Amino acid sequence: MGQTVDFLFINAHVLTMDEQLQQFNPGAVAIKGDSIISVGSQSDLVGKYHAKETFDCRGKILMPGLINAHTHVPMTLLRGLADDLRLDVWLLGYMMPVEREFVSPDFVKLGTSLACAELSLSGVTCFADMYYFEEEVAKATAQAGLRAVCSQTVLKFPTPDAKSYEDSLAYARDFISRWKGHPLIEPSVAPHAPYTCTNEILQATSLLAQEFDVPLHTHLSETALEVENMRRETGMPVIPFVKKQGIFEAKVLAAHCVHIDPGEIRTLVHANAGISHNPSSNLKLGSGFAPVSKMLEAGLNVGIGTDGPASNNDMDMFEEIRLSAFLAKGISGDPTVLPASTALTMATRLGAKALHLGSVTGSLEPGKRADLILINLDMIHNSPRFDREPENAYASIVYAAKSTDVTDVMVNGKWIVQNRVLANLNKDDLVYGASQYSKKIDYFLIQREQSVFSKLIALGGSSEAESFEIQIKVKINNISEIVNALKNPQIDILISKHYHQHDAYFIFPDQTQGRLRYREDEAIDNKGQITSVRSRLTLLGPARENNFENDVLLSRSRYLAPATNSLRFYREYFKPSTEIFIDKDRLRWLVRYKNTEFYINLDSFEKPDLGYFLEIKSRTWSFTDATNKATLTGELILLLGGSLDKTITQDYLEVVQGEEPG
Ligand SMILES: [Zn+2]
Repeated sequence: MGQTVDFLFINAHVLTMDEQLQQFNPGAVAIKGDSIISVGSQSDLVGKYHAKETFDCRGKILMPGLINAHTHVPMTLLRGLADDLRLDVWLLGYMMPVEREFVSPDFVKLGTSLACAELSLSGVTCFADMYYFEEEVAKATAQAGLRAVCSQTVLKFPTPDAKSYEDSLAYARDFISRWKGHPLIEPSVAPHAPYTCTNEILQATSLLAQEFDVPLHTHLSETALEVENMRRETGMPVIPFVKKQGIFEAKVLAAHCVHIDPGEIRTLVHANAGISHNPSSNLKLGSGFAPVSKMLEAGLNVGIGTDGPASNNDMDMFEEIRLSAFLAKGISGDPTVLPASTALTMATRLGAKALHLGSVTGSLEPGKRADLILINLDMIHNSPRFDREPENAYASIVYAAKSTDVTDVMVNGKWIVQNRVLANLNKDDLVYGASQYSKKIDYFLIQREQSVFSKLIALGGSSEAESFEIQIKVKINNISEIVNALKNPQIDILISKHYHQHDAYFIFPDQTQGRLRYREDEAIDNKGQITSVRSRLTLLGPARENNFENDVLLSRSRYLAPATNSLRFYREYFKPSTEIFIDKDRLRWLVRYKNTEFYINLDSFEKPDLGYFLEIKSRTWSFTDATNKATLTGELILLLGGSLDKTITQDYLEVVQGEEPG
């Protein structure tokens, strides 16, 4: 008898998924400790090895475990939370607010364990994760017995596990230094995406990844909008931009790469970057079709990923592999592109290389870790089987098999699934724990959806403005009279500005909710050119005056935030029943009169055509007696123009809370 091994798998149809795509049927695989010792025909191996345990595969497929090249495993707990939304509304309106409220070490641990159960039962032995509290992901994954690249997220905003990007970078450094060298976990750092990171973050995370020689995991060129914004802001598409920040000095794993051109593909090849193609996520979020065939032709290591279970909504790699093949054929109109063997290679050997774990896993070859699965193809949906061509086996798996046909899973030489039973996890406990979270999250969202105000707060970045103002609005006939009146020597002009203002008011069926104003201010210089644009969001209280033709002109503001998203985003997020649009040209002065500072706005309404309005705001931050202020502002109006209707002063006095000065 020859060398002693721990396991000898016999009577298997072995798909090695190696460079030559060797198959052995009947084949055998010898395992010792955590590693593969030998792979070959059964007749060769049986006499050569003395096995402590011989495992009869009964004609099943024995192949390397699948590699899920990009996911966010704890998001299993957010599966089905919000669907059929655009990426920004889904991410910024739902995922991130819920994450800010609920994501904790406990959440991450449970979500990861649930994901590991799902992944291992569907034949996945290794995955690349990106989330918060990545330490908990690593712990739960190692406990479940799976292999993973665990990437700690770094963002420019506060996250559930860090108040600042410096904190998350410090977390990442500590996490990586402690987990580096673990037999199952490859720690890593994840600058989330160029649009959620600063240049400084991209540079710092790249340096960190280089220092520890670990992968840098990120999202690149996911949507056309991302590329469009990047081009507008930097004059270049996404790949050259991140190259300039030095990220390709590290070992990059880039998810998506949907909107990239041939030049960018060449850059990725030069950088030896790994790519995760995520067909379900790209389809569900309407992101587009990644040029997978072109990337493969160029020699890129393109793996396949499910992306997070909140945008998929499952982590079934069989579905992703099939979709990858179908999409490539459908888009090109050529059924010969991306054949089954290539699709399966992407989900195994190429995926491992994309994760920069090519020497560890991804194929059944001597020296690699024993990460393997058994698939029973003797199922009704997969009968009969043909053995004439090597391609027949790949076609069976890619075009007909289901993830539930996976019967046994081994990682690092240890069983994690036997006969479809999980070795290290309790399915019932996980499902119960997840249902407890979904109840709490449902309650949170029901509360939030009850008011425009709480939905605004949930977006984050808003600030309650505490200022008070007194405001008077009057319709006037002629702007020049006011402009001339301002030349009065008793009035000091402190600041003078010119804006073009575009306002969109969201009206809700319940009037007590107030109205939300999205305002875009274009600052205009002396030559009439736009010099800068800023957008703001203001929640206005219910109208207290209805004397004007258009009642949105008088109101009380309650809340203010910089509008960092598009008008379209807010429309889809707040779902107003009606929208009113107002465009006006505004001349604005800050003046001092009798030791009191006032803002004077002269508005010329273009849409709807309301003519001219004079608006005077007293910059009085605290006040006790509204009547006195009325006298004061009334006096100013009288001073400014003889043509004003003097009776209007008292009627149109309005206390404004929260309007931003300046
Ligand atoms: Zn993702």
